[in-house]
Amino acid sequence: MNAGSCSAFEIAIEQRFHDALPAGEGAALDEHLATCASCVAYLASA
Ligand SMILES: [Zn+2]
Repeated sequence: MNAGSCSAFEIAIEQRFHDALPAGEGAALDEHLATCASCVAYLASA
């Protein structure tokens, strides 16, 4: 696991939750979510 990079994605997940995620970062977030179960769990709990 690379928890270090996940903290940045957790911020992006928070931004998406508040509809404040820049469009350019959405693709990178989706790409990460496809491979990272812990961030999917974070998204589900957001
Ligand atoms: Zn992650």
